[in-house]
Amino acid sequence: MEPNELKKDILEQGAIVQRDRETFAIAPHLPGGITDTAALRKLADVGDKYGCKLVKVTSAQRIALVGLREEDLENVWADLGIEKGAAIGFCVRSVKICPGIDFCKRAKQDSVGVGLAIDRKYHGMQLPNKFKIGVSGCPNCCAESAVKDIGIVGTSNGFKVMVGGNAGGQPRIADTISEGKTGEEVLEIVDSIITLYQKAARKGQRLSKFIDKVGIDSLTRFIDIPAGEKGKAMEEISQMNS
Ligand code: SF4
Repeated sequence: MEPNELKKDILEQGAIVQRDRETFAIAPHLPGGITDTAALRKLADVGDKYGCKLVKVTSAQRIALVGLREEDLENVWADLGIEKGAAIGFCVRSVKICPGIDFCKRAKQDSVGVGLAIDRKYHGMQLPNKFKIGVSGCPNCCAESAVKDIGIVGTSNGFKVMVGGNAGGQPRIADTISEGKTGEEVLEIVDSIITLYQKAARKGQRLSKFIDKVGIDSLTRFIDIPAGEKGKAMEEISQMNS
């Protein structure tokens, strides 16, 4: 790198360049924001060792170490021994999960069980654009399910699944595509949506824009087609998006 060249994010190190264009923040993966005191001690010790300037609890339920030097990043990750959080790039970000039925008295469904199963399978998966998922145990929606690409909400008669939400520059409330589902059925629906988006959306096209183009009814019909028979519908939806 030339001496005065401004630094950029380093994808392979999960490192986000800071406003000074010199130091970096990293965000280890803490699925659902659930961790323990040993991990917190390790974060603190590694932060101290490498002169971390600030610790930030992020909106994605991670704990970021801010103000690290580029030359230390590899050693920081090695010392932490925690998977990198998918905080940047076109991929599935950490799944946001509310405390759910084991802890919250208002919960109707097991948001943690479903959310962690989704996180295990999809966290970091490359997709046409960034992809956010929120799983809430009841309609209070503490995981902001209505403004996620896929939002899941527990209700008295099962889970509700919403798609196409966005809280960014062009806010959009997600459309409800399914209600009264079990956790297993939710996982199948999530798989259908992500597979379709991966194969039929254009690079850079957020799921909300994809839905605006092909229509929510296309998605609703697609998830009802049995697995193994979705190929033709996928091709037709791809053509609608071209
Ligand atoms: S969404 Fe409902 S179940 Fe989850 S933390 Fe909020 S109030 Fe509790």
